[in-house]
Amino acid sequence: MTSTGRHFLQIPGPTNTPDRVLRAIAAPTIDHRGPQFADLTRDILRRLGPVFGTTGPIVVYPASGTGAWEAALVNTLSPGDRVLCFETGHFATLWQDMAQRLGLDVEVVPGDWRHGADPAEATARLTADTGHTIRAVLVVHNETSTGVTSRIPEIRAAIDATGHPALLLVDTVSSLASIDYRHDQWGVDVTIAGSQKGLMLPPGLSFNAVSAKALAASRTARLPRSFWDWAPIIEANARGFFPYTPATNLLYGLREALRMLDEEGLPQVYARHQRHAEATRLAVRAWGLEVLCADEREHSGSLTAVLVPDGHDADEIRAIVLDRWNMSLGTGLGRLAGRVFRIGHLGDLNDLMLAGTLAGVQMGLVAAGVPIDPAGVTAALDRLQKR
Ligand code: PLP
Repeated sequence: MTSTGRHFLQIPGPTNTPDRVLRAIAAPTIDHRGPQFADLTRDILRRLGPVFGTTGPIVVYPASGTGAWEAALVNTLSPGDRVLCFETGHFATLWQDMAQRLGLDVEVVPGDWRHGADPAEATARLTADTGHTIRAVLVVHNETSTGVTSRIPEIRAAIDATGHPALLLVDTVSSLASIDYRHDQWGVDVTIAGSQKGLMLPPGLSFNAVSAKALAASRTARLPRSFWDWAPIIEANARGFFPYTPATNLLYGLREALRMLDEEGLPQVYARHQRHAEATRLAVRAWGLEVLCADEREHSGSLTAVLVPDGHDADEIRAIVLDRWNMSLGTGLGRLAGRVFRIGHLGDLNDLMLAGTLAGVQMGLVAAGVPIDPAGVTAALDRLQKR
């Protein structure tokens, strides 16, 4: 095992935390009821708006993304409410399971884990629901287990075409601040996000961006909630505070990460991710391997899931890459275990980090005896040579 140099953390989150963010987190913790803290909260909430594409409230939780999933459900829904879920992969399935455990009536649109949520299915299911009993549509924007990005504006248009009043809840845990996203413009009611991917922070913070319609729904929603309740948080935030002891040092890190995103510019951040995703796909195809995502319109900008040929174990390749080149790649999750490995290319990444990542994957494939054409890295470098 090579232990010199930096570890390559090329899983699709948590991502590499920039030194600037780590240094910000290392500052002394301050009084969370003092004036300096109020400035921090206000600065963060102001800077978060453009990242979500919203002028509405954004609730920050000291929790992982799973907590923000729960918050979105318990704030907007009541026991027994029907929700329409798209089974795009492992994370969509986990969110569905949670909805079921919370006592919601879950209708699942099955999927093959190679495509995003189908807008035509949304139209069909909502048209069939003449009594408007479906209260919310749940979609994972970027399915981290498959590298497939659902087309949220098309889902929105499909819902609108039916005149159905269901809320639209969207998980952007692995797309926010990596892939173009617009909460207000796309008519999303609750956007769920996490700190540890495009936002370049360690795990531990998560978010709900809330539309006026979702806020109105929260006033009558009856699922039990206490810690996750938006109302006391939004109220305390208006004064710069939280109704509990917040994760002060992670908030320092968040402020620094938001400054970095602002300095680069969101359009440039999105373009960088797309360019790296494109270079990665060129490498995979030049190796003679298959990208899991089966629709050209839905390739993820933040990660690529690679199918390994029959007779080979993706986790064995990952183990070799870790052992010999000190790089972590994402494992296959759920029904994809052993069949895919995932290359994370999101967060704080540049051309040479991606080139190194793809070189490590190529060497790992060769070392594992996978029959590939070692032209992958060259194909990626040709793409990276261009702007
Ligand atoms: N949703 C997506 C798309 C994810 O990728 C993840 C985690 O990777 C989650 C939700 C769950 O978030 P967490 O593991 O932070 O609880």
